[in-house]
Amino acid sequence: MIQSLSTEVRMIKGVGPQRAELLAQRGIRTLEDLLGYLPFRYEDRIHFSKVKDIQPNGTYTLRVRVMSGQAVRTMRGRDAIYHLLVQDDSGGLLPCKFFHGGYLEGRLKPGQLLILHGKAEVDKLRPARLEMVNPQIEVLSSEEMDSTEVGRIVPIYEAIGTFGSRQIRRAMYAAVQLIDRTMPDVLPEGLRARLGYPSRGDALIHTHFPDPGESLDALNTFRSPAQQRLIFEEFFLYQLSLALDRRATRKENAIAFRVREDAVREALKRILPFKPTAAQKRVLAEIAADLEKPAPMNRLLQGDVGSGKTIIALQAAVIAIENGTQAALMAPTEILAVQHFLSARRILANGGYRVELLISGLKSAEKNAALERIRSGEAQLVIGTHALIEDNVEFERLGFVAIDEQHRFGVLQRKRLMDKAAAHGHAPHVLVLTATPIPRTLSLTLYGDLDVSVLDELPPGRTPITTRMTSEPHLPGVWEFLRREVAAGHQAYVVYPVIEESKLELKAAMEEYERLSREVFPKLKLGLLHGRLSSEEKEEVMQRFRKNEAQILVATTVVEVGVDVPNATVMVIEHAERFGLSQLHQLRGRIGRGAEKSHCILVAPVRMTDEARARLETMVRTSNGFEIAETDLLLRGPGEFFGTRQSGDMGFHIANPIRDRELLELARREAFTLAEDPAQQDTMQRILRQLPAEWQRRYHLARIG
Ligand code: ADP
Ligand code: MG
Repeated sequence: MIQSLSTEVRMIKGVGPQRAELLAQRGIRTLEDLLGYLPFRYEDRIHFSKVKDIQPNGTYTLRVRVMSGQAVRTMRGRDAIYHLLVQDDSGGLLPCKFFHGGYLEGRLKPGQLLILHGKAEVDKLRPARLEMVNPQIEVLSSEEMDSTEVGRIVPIYEAIGTFGSRQIRRAMYAAVQLIDRTMPDVLPEGLRARLGYPSRGDALIHTHFPDPGESLDALNTFRSPAQQRLIFEEFFLYQLSLALDRRATRKENAIAFRVREDAVREALKRILPFKPTAAQKRVLAEIAADLEKPAPMNRLLQGDVGSGKTIIALQAAVIAIENGTQAALMAPTEILAVQHFLSARRILANGGYRVELLISGLKSAEKNAALERIRSGEAQLVIGTHALIEDNVEFERLGFVAIDEQHRFGVLQRKRLMDKAAAHGHAPHVLVLTATPIPRTLSLTLYGDLDVSVLDELPPGRTPITTRMTSEPHLPGVWEFLRREVAAGHQAYVVYPVIEESKLELKAAMEEYERLSREVFPKLKLGLLHGRLSSEEKEEVMQRFRKNEAQILVATTVVEVGVDVPNATVMVIEHAERFGLSQLHQLRGRIGRGAEKSHCILVAPVRMTDEARARLETMVRTSNGFEIAETDLLLRGPGEFFGTRQSGDMGFHIANPIRDRELLELARREAFTLAEDPAQQDTMQRILRQLPAEWQRRYHLARIG
């Protein structure tokens, strides 16, 4: 009998060496890791729905038998639609359609028992009939009411490669049997009892295999007591790491910069290309006050798109350089890194500072030369992408670090850049910039180790952007409008969701670029920008656009963050219904950066979902980033408000900072109380000692003694 939580997964029934390999790629190596792989939804397979009872737009779980199945090639011959006809005990027949379903051919046989889960829809050709399109499907392995497949509330897992949900469930069933109910609990007993949570073992068992009486709705909204406990635990450990980090940072040494000296003030004045806004002055003062201290700054700068965050980062960099250290600025995309590099070089030229660019697209000789200049200290401000945090990058003396568009990076990446300074025995001052305006309480909780500054004022002379919605039949009018804007000396973006014609028949940037150049704007110069271009190609296109050698830039969302070409006054977003609200807001942030009136035109089909319409209407109604973020939260609810990278890096398996906001706040209070209470240091040490190495890594707890 295997007992220990560190038992290797391949020892578990239903896993074996091959699947263990797949799991290992996902970082799942032990029984404990496997138990941490949680269901993303649940199906009631005790009370199946009946085919004859289903209604349009309802979601159902059905137990049915295959009557017939057939793959039909589509006209383009590339892919097949699989037509399946099934019947349930009630005698009801239900047709199903699987797009890209060629793989099902030969796999489903008449008479087989299936579980289907999906939404009933009206068959467009025969409106009297209901059908399911691409339902989730599980072939039952026998007629028996096997305990993992039916006759219970069944957990559904995301497949891992070829390791499907059903097989994972079986392995998990075996794994759960191995849980010793007395397994160690990271939550202190007193806390657990006070909050009324089940033990860790019980919580895991019931999250994987809920009792029949559990509410399906509670489970699918992650509100069962077992799930709540696991969510709390993740937040608690994360917050504990923030609390400890904060404590440790307070003790760390940073270089205390001189900022009041005349030389520094002069230097700052010399580089300023414009008169700073009152908000910019206030924020710079907040930063300067941090930089003067011998403890490292850890500050988040929040400011809506176009509020002028870049110059603040550059000013802080100048302070660092004037104090004899190097500064680094990390950006999430090459386009943005290059843009920062060009403007920093232009702005800092007045001070004679040496600026270096480091992106992965550099040729190897150039890159080595750059690395050498960074190592020797010749490079004073280094601007780059993720390339900055690679192992081969060494600084001579790094004193200040800025991270632009922080929401695109994770906590880990921030720490890795900070570690580049640790080699010299001091911690760097850190400034992270973000335009993702999250509510203040939430930002304090998520970035709990950071102080927050807010830029709540746009630079003067901006004319508000006009946003309107239109549909495809009106595109000729839109193009006519673009022609007039270009004739007035302005430039425009036209953004598409994908770069090649996809099966969803979205317009593709590439194809549209061809068409627009040839048929619509034969007299204008167009540029095409998308993610598959090489660094050099991207830069060449951007350069032409910046210099107004191209008047219209056809692009994918690569222009989403940070791009700053003030002469561009029009943003046309095609298939706007496909974009999320924050994405639309970021895209719109590319215009309205100069004094000229700017226009954002959202092109969407006449028919779209209510949610898509609500998003677009929000865009038309307001351009206030905070208001948009709040609406986004409401519309998406528990959805992915934060990119997966962010929560992925935090290592959350089940917790979702938005959906579980209240638990997050609770966990924060509990964790900070514990960490800061001298009487509870023993308890805390006990928690830390109990954590598996993987968790220590996940929550960055390793460096805390
Ligand atoms: P974001 O906050 O979105 O990163 P940027 O730093 O790119 O904004 O600034 C947006 C534009 O506004 C840039 O063209 C920048 O040069 C300009 N800008 C920033 N601050 C001022 C100011 N105080 N006065 C005039 N223009 C400014
Ligand atoms: Mg920016």
